[in-house]
Amino acid sequence: MNEEIAVYIHIPFCQSKCYYCDFTSYVNCDLKIEEYIDALILEILQNSEILSTRKIKSIYFGGGTPSYIDPKYIERILDVLRMFLSEDAEITIEANPNSLTFKKVEIYKRSGINRISIGLQSTYDEILKSIGRKHTYSDFLKALEDCKNGGIKNISLDLIYPLPYLTLDKFSATLDKVINLSKNYDIKHISIYNLEIHENTKLEFLLKEGFYNLVSEDEEYEMKCMLEDKLQNAFFYKYEISNFAKKGYESKHNLTYWNQQEYLGFGVAAASFFCGTRYKNTNNIDEYINGINNGNNILIEKEELNKLDLEKEYIILNLRLIDGINISKFRQKFNTDLFDIFKEELTYLFKTKLIEYKNNKQNIALTKRGMEVANLVWEKFI
Ligand code: SF4
Repeated sequence: MNEEIAVYIHIPFCQSKCYYCDFTSYVNCDLKIEEYIDALILEILQNSEILSTRKIKSIYFGGGTPSYIDPKYIERILDVLRMFLSEDAEITIEANPNSLTFKKVEIYKRSGINRISIGLQSTYDEILKSIGRKHTYSDFLKALEDCKNGGIKNISLDLIYPLPYLTLDKFSATLDKVINLSKNYDIKHISIYNLEIHENTKLEFLLKEGFYNLVSEDEEYEMKCMLEDKLQNAFFYKYEISNFAKKGYESKHNLTYWNQQEYLGFGVAAASFFCGTRYKNTNNIDEYINGINNGNNILIEKEELNKLDLEKEYIILNLRLIDGINISKFRQKFNTDLFDIFKEELTYLFKTKLIEYKNNKQNIALTKRGMEVANLVWEKFI
């Protein structure tokens, strides 16, 4: 039987640039969409020999804003990948509320997409505006209705905190609204990301110049506790540092990353992990299109990981999961005992109560405190 693999497709086009964004995304670049998709399909075909040795268990259209482009392009990409797909593959597309329509949902569904991940970010229009998002809360409600009418049974939402103008009360109301909506719509998964302020973004400028303020660290911590309580009480279980899902609806695609399994990324800036090697495509769309069409190198990173690198990376990725590292799976995967190699690091982390045993000592996971200072834990393995 063929081994499984995940596939990531990068669609780098957006209607406008959000103030906090540092993803590879292009605005006012619609004339390049057609040639970009042609190049992306060519890149998939160039990898068809590898794909024919695997079964695709998940496809993720990320971006950028995949729902921004004509859905015929998404259909074309899926038509090429279809022959390599597992029957029960999870196929997700990221969508912004204002670019999703019922017609698009219908086409997605027809071409095999069974999961839509909606970038909500906030339920308050003034907050959305303050971070440069183009949608409103009512656009989001309409997008949910379109997903429902289009038969999408697995919806994921993205939220961000803290944000300008977001108070504890507003955050509490946001969570309540989302939880209430999940009773009428198929919201099965919620990702809540901690705001990252990237260099040279408009948000960094606005905060630095004092145009915006964020809540204090204490209030941010209260938000974190609040979201965990409210979501757990609504049966959204935390299974990863930033991700909550109804039982059985954990993201198969993202679990591939956290379990250090193989994936191929296609498109500009897309990353891959295959046969112990990590690759990354160029971040420049013209270089990408020309490189693919002329058979030139499009990789800007290629790193072959040795056994110790893979072991360390596996620990860091697995510790993101609430269940942490399964000790016997580690032994099976690497043919070594976890404690033989990382005795010193693990002893220190147990002693400082940043990690703990779970599931009858079958797993090692971050403690609540460990989650709060996860970077200090990762440092031990870097
Ligand atoms: S929609 Fe997403 S990728 Fe596009 S600018 Fe906003 S955050 Fe960036």
